[in-house]
Amino acid sequence: MAVCARLCGVGPSRGCRRRQQRRGPAETAAADSEPDTDPEEERIEAGAAALAGAGGGRGAGPSPPPRCSLLELPPELLVEIFASLPGTDLPSLAQVCTKFRRILHTDTIWRRRCREVLHRYRHILGLWQPDIGPYGGLLNVVVDGLFIIGWMYLPPHDPHVDDPMRFKPLFRVHLMERKSATVECMYGHRGPHNGHIQIVKKDEFSTKCNQTDHHRMSGGRQEEFRTWLREEWGRTLEDIFHEHMQELILMKFIYTSQYDNCLTYRRIYLPPSHPDDLIRPGLFKGTYGSHGLEIVMLSFHGKRARGTKITGDPNIPAGQQTVEIDLMHRIQLPDVESLRSFNELSRIVLEVREQVRQEQQQREDGAEDGEGRAPQSPREPQRGPAQPSVELPAEKGGGPADGEAAAAAAPAPEQPAQSGQGQPFVLPVGVSSRNEDYPRTCRMCFYGTGLIAGHGFTSPERTPGVFILFDEDRFGFIWLELKSFSLYSRVRATFRNAEAPSPQAFEEMLKNIQSLTS
Ligand SMILES: [Zn+2]
Repeated sequence: MAVCARLCGVGPSRGCRRRQQRRGPAETAAADSEPDTDPEEERIEAGAAALAGAGGGRGAGPSPPPRCSLLELPPELLVEIFASLPGTDLPSLAQVCTKFRRILHTDTIWRRRCREVLHRYRHILGLWQPDIGPYGGLLNVVVDGLFIIGWMYLPPHDPHVDDPMRFKPLFRVHLMERKSATVECMYGHRGPHNGHIQIVKKDEFSTKCNQTDHHRMSGGRQEEFRTWLREEWGRTLEDIFHEHMQELILMKFIYTSQYDNCLTYRRIYLPPSHPDDLIRPGLFKGTYGSHGLEIVMLSFHGKRARGTKITGDPNIPAGQQTVEIDLMHRIQLPDVESLRSFNELSRIVLEVREQVRQEQQQREDGAEDGEGRAPQSPREPQRGPAQPSVELPAEKGGGPADGEAAAAAAPAPEQPAQSGQGQPFVLPVGVSSRNEDYPRTCRMCFYGTGLIAGHGFTSPERTPGVFILFDEDRFGFIWLELKSFSLYSRVRATFRNAEAPSPQAFEEMLKNIQSLTS
């Protein structure tokens, strides 16, 4: 309370003396040695007093009283005064007295402060894909408490495709600054350090780290690699020593670590959803053999559904269409016994492929392309109540995990073989799967094509396959030529500011991210 009294001009003479003599910076520094003096407080005091004087002088008499008590001002005015002070000063000001603290707890001040900085950075909220060679990625920029944080989302460890996404902060912007907002790089393990964000244009921005030495570890590259391996793959050097995927892993480490968090991001939108969609579109985690888990965006386009890679690999880079599903051509799987035979499944799929080819031929002959027409409702006639497009609780200040964790904790909305709805499913013998834990019933199957290519995306080719819909949140794809199976599981996190402004904007975004890696 002594401090408060001092500020209010009724305290001991020492406080009053300070009010009367404005000190220069040198004197303020000297005052540091004084036991009862806080130069920071002094600055606030001076600033607040000056502001109060200016504010009061407007309507009041010609000369304000020499000792104006801040405490006597109405709270609304104090809110105005405090709101105009540098954000970093507010915490110290709150310690002055209970009245100030109460006023500073007024949401208005903080909100206004946040709005100012937020206004400058509003364009970076939402989902982004980094330009990082074939690898891509998923960055979610959110307002989190007093920061704007860029969270990089990583798939769970291979092959646990049903596990929640993992995330780590790559940068943060302090909302409580007045002039130039502080941007910090969060990359590495040595805490936040100086960084920079450049907003190139509305749908593109870059990050830069000004202290990349903070990314280095004392144990050198060896330790950095081991740490990355543990975090990214949940593996040890010894684990991967005997695996053929070690080259892929090494390549990714060498390639991605050279960026040192200096990345360019391009905006991505979540796919628009329509009540007639087979399932709700969105992001999925999928198994990609030795490449580990990758993030794929499922979207619906009339009679086709597409899976676009949000993360990629040296064979099929991010941005490419990994699978395309022909919703006009359902595939009736044989009974489970016959399904065990790969040749039988292969025969069925190739038959459909031939049919698709013939129809295409006919269309070309008739010069009539029905590409834009809506499908004849490939959707099941009876499903549960329509899923709202946003069904997870909105995230609060606790980080992006909230939505995902909450959803993961809830029972999976799987509907096992409900009144003849499900059909028994088993992988044909000889088809390899990263994950033996795939669903044993499915709802329906469609003919589809999967993109395969050599290293460096050489000779890409769409090859025949089967799309298997397991439930609202899981689907699979059998790659006939590779004799392998990918299992996809929905990313259950909630993303804000990620809706496309229009269906056209979404299509354009897909085209753009694809052209970047073609
Ligand atoms: Zn950094």
